[in-house]
Amino acid sequence: MDAFLNEKSMLDLLETLVNIDSGSHNKEGVDQVGQKLVPLFQELGFEIKRVKQEEVGDHLIVTHPKKKVASILIVAHMDTVFEKGTVALRPFTIAEGRAYGPGVIDMKASLVSVIYALRYLKEFGSKAYQNVQVILNSDEEIGSVTSREIIETEVKGKSFALIMEPARRDGSLVTERRGSGRFTIEVHGKAAHSGIEPEKGRSAIEELAHKIVKLHELNDHEHGISVNVGIIEGGDAVNTISAMAIGHLDVRVSTLEQAEEVEHKIEEVCASADVNGTEIELTGDMRRPPMLKDKKIEALFNIVKNVGADLGIEIKDTKTGGGSDASFTSAMGIPTIDGLGPIGGNAHSDKEYLEISSLKERTLLLAKVIERLNQK
Ligand SMILES: [Zn+2]
Repeated sequence: MDAFLNEKSMLDLLETLVNIDSGSHNKEGVDQVGQKLVPLFQELGFEIKRVKQEEVGDHLIVTHPKKKVASILIVAHMDTVFEKGTVALRPFTIAEGRAYGPGVIDMKASLVSVIYALRYLKEFGSKAYQNVQVILNSDEEIGSVTSREIIETEVKGKSFALIMEPARRDGSLVTERRGSGRFTIEVHGKAAHSGIEPEKGRSAIEELAHKIVKLHELNDHEHGISVNVGIIEGGDAVNTISAMAIGHLDVRVSTLEQAEEVEHKIEEVCASADVNGTEIELTGDMRRPPMLKDKKIEALFNIVKNVGADLGIEIKDTKTGGGSDASFTSAMGIPTIDGLGPIGGNAHSDKEYLEISSLKERTLLLAKVIERLNQK
């Protein structure tokens, strides 16, 4: 195994990828990451279709010509949450068994893992790697706005979807995710001097306050519904009745029914004004459906678990509140497992790390899972 899963060369590739700033809005950087990966897939005989984008990096669809209709879809993203200049401040480093740097675990280590897993299978004479299609998208961290459609189109007809978000700190895979939505409530009122002619004003802030209280009443933590106005803006001066107030709302749900119900209730709350003469404009929607651990996902997880057992790795699963592209593939009815990347933690922060010992381990797991699924 060592010849094909050489930790040193895997870390070299990881260093190259981490040291390219590739925040979602940095098209040039994300495209550069793509350019590093393309020849590596081509070496393995894959063909790459580039889906050009204006605002974000181009999405890449990687397919083997011998298997135009692969049965396994792997989804991995090339973008990070870090802005341009982060690499200069804290480039790739290694200390005490961990690797650090922007996007190291979310999910540049996963990109390395995908390449090496496919390479490993090819080198060992398994044709299973040809039965894989890979989508490398460039806007996952901003909700996969432009890649969602590609993922939903390509996953049709697949038997399995493997999503390469990192494994949790304790190595768990992810079989359940809450669905999420984002909404903006923009309230228009009427400005007036609060000392001279307050009766002429219509306070947008007052109206938004009513809405915030009502929206927060939709919280039902016991059943996995959370509604949070996390940012508010508004007002011009302390002695001016505010003409404008904006609230930004994050919503999480555990089931598809809840998604519909909560969206409906939000619309209801915002349908009429509590402060006469103010107007409310509601925009946004439920962005990612929930991923539910149904029988199909359970069956796929058991396969992965058995492959892990053969390798001497105990594989557990867990649920998380965050969204990922697994939400799209699972909502399409395709058995999906997430968290197949290497192990690490503190994603989206400057303390983000990869547990280096997991890089080869999880890559081998991925390769063996592909091999097993190819026989299904
Ligand atoms: Zn990610």
